[in-house]
Amino acid sequence: MGKVKCPNCGEMNPDILTNCRKCGSPLPARFGALQVKICPKCARTNPASRTTCMYCNSPL
Ligand SMILES: [Zn+2]
Ligand SMILES: [Zn+2]
Repeated sequence: MGKVKCPNCGEMNPDILTNCRKCGSPLPARFGALQVKICPKCARTNPASRTTCMYCNSPL
């Protein structure tokens, strides 16, 4: 089980939560290892930190 850092207040939350236990903000990555983005153009998975596809360079 991992931890998810709240983008709003920086609180570390267990990744089973969907909202921050401190401030109530929605947490972006509740699935731990599943922090990926699917390219809308080529449908391949990219790391969630990327803003463009590493295969076809489309915006994610
Ligand atoms: Zn928070
Ligand atoms: Zn792509």
